Amino acid sequence: MDVSRDRYVIDGYDELQKAARIHVSRISGEEGLQVPGVSIVRSVGPGPARADAYFATRKGPPTIEVTERALRELSLEGLTFLLAHELGHFADAARFARRTRVLVAVFSLAGVLMLGGFLAAALAGYFNASSYGGFAVLVIGLVTLGVWLLMACAMGREGEMRADMFALRHDPELTGAREVFDSWEVDKPEATEPMTLTRRVSFLFRTRPYRSTRLRAMQAALSRNNR
Ligand SMILES: [Zn+2]
Repeated sequence: MDVSRDRYVIDGYDELQKAARIHVSRISGEEGLQVPGVSIVRSVGPGPARADAYFATRKGPPTIEVTERALRELSLEGLTFLLAHELGHFADAARFARRTRVLVAVFSLAGVLMLGGFLAAALAGYFNASSYGGFAVLVIGLVTLGVWLLMACAMGREGEMRADMFALRHDPELTGAREVFDSWEVDKPEATEPMTLTRRVSFLFRTRPYRSTRLRAMQAALSRNNR
């Protein structure tokens, strides 16, 4: 996946990258952030190549990956919102690292409990002793794994919302945010039925908030700030 991103070749790559870098430098400057690298990609995830961007924390220098479609199709406002949101992830890097440590710790705990419980139950069976204790620990481990999953999803959603709050300062009318979300709607309309129980439960397993939730949260923040 990384390789194909690096190999992305288009006519006018340099001009496009230069234009993107100007926007990124402007927003970084206003926020007092170090200017991350910018690379242009066809797509930031599976599915159709939409106007989108991604802040890459994997390895090497911090880089914002932005799709060619975003640069060619979005207005200045749309692009500003998209890039400011990614810079919001960059500004949140320390928090992201802490979050990752917590998730690794909980996941390890779940693994130790499950393995320990399984071994204890198996050994107890072998020695004809009661294996209830081992099974109990195994179940606690499974529950911990469930908690880990819910935490990972909740932290992912929180990270998105925090990046939106950061981007808000650069898109105070939400014109850019609306434009970006509308452009996604063409590829993949969002289910907009009311929050039924099923929808609430499935929300718990989403790593990304619904677009409508994101817009509502930004609107609420704006009206708080304007009061
Ligand atoms: Zn994001």
